[in-house]
Amino acid sequence: MQITLPQAAGAGVRPLSGKTALVTGSTSGIGLGVAEALAEQGAGIVLNGFGDPQTIMRTRDRLAMEHNVEVAYSGADLSDPSAIAEMMAYARDVLGPVDILVNNAGIQYVAPIGEFPTAKWDAILAVNLSSAFHTIRAVLPEMMQRGYGRIINVASAHGLVASPFKSAYVAAKHGVLGLTKTVALEAATSGVTCNAICPGYVFTPLVEKQIEEQARAHGIAADKVVTDILLASQPNKRFATIEEIGALAVFLAGPGGASITGTSLAVDGGWTAH
Ligand code: NAD
Repeated sequence: MQITLPQAAGAGVRPLSGKTALVTGSTSGIGLGVAEALAEQGAGIVLNGFGDPQTIMRTRDRLAMEHNVEVAYSGADLSDPSAIAEMMAYARDVLGPVDILVNNAGIQYVAPIGEFPTAKWDAILAVNLSSAFHTIRAVLPEMMQRGYGRIINVASAHGLVASPFKSAYVAAKHGVLGLTKTVALEAATSGVTCNAICPGYVFTPLVEKQIEEQARAHGIAADKVVTDILLASQPNKRFATIEEIGALAVFLAGPGGASITGTSLAVDGGWTAH
């Protein structure tokens, strides 16, 4: 399903006015927060992700009206490279070249490695890592030619450190950091930056599901998972917020982020300082 909505009249000049941002996995959680933060600064948005079609259309219309920007939506399944290619072509057709690419879509599965389903490994690697390769491959040459681009990969604290039972997720997120560094070096003199945001725990539908899965894997109650497992690693003892991740993405996309490239920015309450 691919639909666009025309921009409402009377947009003022904001730092990202005239820019186009494609945010993968932006029908929910962190991606939606990042899309909202970029739209607030004037960027046109291409949303992507799964969900109830009516809810997605309401989100698209709300973003367009509240922030006075163009908003389009692609329901591409990021585990399918040909669907990604179609999404990238669609984004260019409806909103012009992508200036800001946020690779955010991600899935999780928690199980001991001996019981980890092969299909889950393949799906996590495809969505959490390979999709970022495919989207970057599609936009980087044009960004470099145009002399501006911001690639923001939403990795994880699990791109920097590991936890048990998350083999595929940890491997994919470490891979995202390697991809981030390589892209940054290839684009270094071109005005295009590439960075990874590494959140600790942020309360989103993905984490809600994980709480249930961890409770099963460890054989403990859900509230114990929050206090004794998730926030045990996070020294500030609170979930990071979607708004905090959105604010960092806005900074990286703006002029202040011009010399920040090839790095990972932890938003984890001190977790990876251990
Ligand atoms: P979420 O489940 O709320 O959102 C995930 C988004 O990805 C949704 O829009 C979903 O529809 C989309 N998606 C999933 N599979 C897809 C596919 N095959 N094709 C297209 N879209 C797909 O999750 P979230 O917590 O907001 O996570 C967003 C990103 O942040 C993920 O990469 C995740 O690994 C990362 N992250 C989250 C946390 C956290 O605590 N929530 C911490 C660190 C990193």
